[in-house]
Amino acid sequence: MPGANIGVDLGTTSVVIYVQGKGIVLNEPTAAAYLEKSGKVLAVGRKAFTMVGRAPSSIKVVLPMKDGTVADFTVTLNIVRTYLQRICGNMVFKPNVVICLPSGVTNLEKRTILDLAISSRAGKACLIDEPLASALGAGIDISRPNGTMVVDIGGGTTDVAVLTMGSISISRSVKLAGNALDEAIIRYFSRERALIVGEKTAEKVKRKIGCSFMREPEIAISVKGKNYITGMPTRVEVNSTEIYLAIRERLENICDTIISVLESTPPELSADIADNGIVLTGGGALLSGLDRLIESKTGIKTYVADEPLLCVAKGIGKVMNNRKFLERSGYMFKTAEEIKGYSD
Ligand code: ADP
Ligand code: MG
Repeated sequence: MPGANIGVDLGTTSVVIYVQGKGIVLNEPTAAAYLEKSGKVLAVGRKAFTMVGRAPSSIKVVLPMKDGTVADFTVTLNIVRTYLQRICGNMVFKPNVVICLPSGVTNLEKRTILDLAISSRAGKACLIDEPLASALGAGIDISRPNGTMVVDIGGGTTDVAVLTMGSISISRSVKLAGNALDEAIIRYFSRERALIVGEKTAEKVKRKIGCSFMREPEIAISVKGKNYITGMPTRVEVNSTEIYLAIRERLENICDTIISVLESTPPELSADIADNGIVLTGGGALLSGLDRLIESKTGIKTYVADEPLLCVAKGIGKVMNNRKFLERSGYMFKTAEEIKGYSD
């Protein structure tokens, strides 16, 4: 497939890759496993993720961007390199790569990722801001002079942005998203139920019975963990009300962030948002009832985008051939030489 362009959504939880003409070709956890002694990488993505909490002491499993910033940059680079080489390796012509990074990534890290993309056989590489990509992926026409609010709730961060005429008018990012809800659930089990549970279990509980409202009727599931006092494997029953109460405060904090952005939004754009509504993207948008909660707190109609986990990658797919749009919005493809002088 000559000259096919590639879009990479490097999220804190998962990496999604879009190839022009093919669609989404990869969607795997942002994880890598390597040998503690030699540093040799054993697995990346899904295979590495299955080892979380289950690897022997000789193997280190890393989720390098869990908190929304790059906690382990070398591992992040390894993951991106592995995927890009896997995909670009079969291509006759060098592809252009458009990459979307979490908002906490520093300028130096941005430059290194661009450099890496080029050295992984990309011809030119370009970074794009997440709110723009997720809005496009959600099917919003952002080119008009009309305000839209997009809230992307990922694993590490919630990014709230107001867009107009293809650019960001105002945005805010907080380290409060899916992982923070999992932590609240872990804390609930340890404090109230004397049970130690792992991150994966907490996340599963959140997906199965987590809710942004008191569920009626209540639903319950059985959860396995380790008794805090005896240290023995134990099973307890937990219901949706208990989980709702455990995560409620964090959900309210997410709503407060949205409200604070609305308060700082210029009046004309604010009036547009009241008409157009708020659009939710990212995996966190799948939490049951979150659209209703945000709607009740802000008084603005709130929608969950179609396939919220794929919005960013699909948005990059839509825009990567539209050079004019990219340039007008301030995004430029850079060659290896140009990246060396990149300071934005
Ligand atoms: P990132 O862009 O940071 O990689 P994603 O958009 O992939 O994040 O979203 C990942 C987050 O979405 C995780 O915290 C995950 O637990 C959460 N998530 C995924 N599906 C659901 C669901 N059905 N209910 C609640 N949360 C979910
Ligand atoms: Mg994301």
